Amino acid sequence: MDAMRDIREMHEELTAWRRDLHAHPETAFEERRTSDFIAEKLTGFGLEVYRGLAGTGVVATLTHGTNGRAIGLRADMDALFLQEENDFAHRSQNDGKMHACGHDGHSTMLLGAARYLARNRWFDGTVRFIFQPAEETGNEECGGNRMVRDGLFERFPVDAVFGMHNFPGIPLGHFSVRTGPMLASIDTFEFKVLSEHNHPATQFTSPDPILLAGRIVEAFHSFKARSINPAEPVVMSITQFQAGDPTNDRQGVHITPDHAYVRGTVYTLNDAVRDIMQSQLPNIAEGIASAGGAGCDFSYERGYPVLINAPREKELAVSAASALVGAERVETDMEPIMGAEDFAFMLKEKPGCYILIGNGDSESSCHVHNPKYDFNDDAIPFGVGYWVSLVESYLPAS
Ligand SMILES: [Zn+2]
Ligand SMILES: [Zn+2]
Repeated sequence: MDAMRDIREMHEELTAWRRDLHAHPETAFEERRTSDFIAEKLTGFGLEVYRGLAGTGVVATLTHGTNGRAIGLRADMDALFLQEENDFAHRSQNDGKMHACGHDGHSTMLLGAARYLARNRWFDGTVRFIFQPAEETGNEECGGNRMVRDGLFERFPVDAVFGMHNFPGIPLGHFSVRTGPMLASIDTFEFKVLSEHNHPATQFTSPDPILLAGRIVEAFHSFKARSINPAEPVVMSITQFQAGDPTNDRQGVHITPDHAYVRGTVYTLNDAVRDIMQSQLPNIAEGIASAGGAGCDFSYERGYPVLINAPREKELAVSAASALVGAERVETDMEPIMGAEDFAFMLKEKPGCYILIGNGDSESSCHVHNPKYDFNDDAIPFGVGYWVSLVESYLPAS
């Protein structure tokens, strides 16, 4: 691809931008410096910039030619609440916050594409560069959903929308994608089994919340194994189980707890399975608690939906990536991943495709959300090249 020579010429500068963003990580809806940095660059490229969707969101528009079609390209900007353990010069300067998911790289690659396309307008149509906050919240109050709710696609119409995420373990210069469900939905639930405090010697006189909560957890696992079609992936995990007061022993008194608290997550690749989990888990918990004479407070919170790639847009993504790196470096039917991503909210509104870009597979490349993680700057030209290739094939110049 001819563009690669020009893109490689920007590599050093883009690496400096990426490291600047890495050194100044900001978390959900507080990406003010990041948003200023991005908006300033985009304005400098001569793009029309709009700020304020979902608070810190930035949308830039670049139109060339007469074709009425429009494509949306999306990057995420937020960091995680995590203490960085790297000691290189561009390590986080914000205590307890870190770009451990590579969103610094995603923002930089999309900025690189905006700069290249503003200078080299070999396309006919409109490109929307979408920079969203708060990808990492895990609940419906995330940046992707809020931008959609704030009218992203009404104010900035597109025919299709595309996203990209780095993936450690995939070799540098390689891409992975699939048609249909590619990432899971994520939901969380929590419940309390309610009883009353008692003396351990007379626990038989009131419901035991620990025993009942344990039975409920066990029943959830059996339910998943025996009531959901095994061909449908679903991962249910208990992430917290708390009961009792740890000061009891210190004080030399012995009191049984008046409640047990349990929290967990549900990942699925099918909304119908998600509906079953949401409707049945409370029934099981309340049934077991009530059979044991206890009360139960249950709540189930929906997070991100299943991320589904549209067949036509996926083929476009594959041909754009193949034009860049060769078909042999593009995995077109990868296994779905049981992690979640809020780009799924945009894909519920518009057809599109989400693709993984290799962050390298060397032994030192640790996974995202690890305090030693760093985005691989050598991936930048491939990411920029992919966006450019996608725009030029989606909106071909006449
Ligand atoms: Zn992440
Ligand atoms: Zn991420």
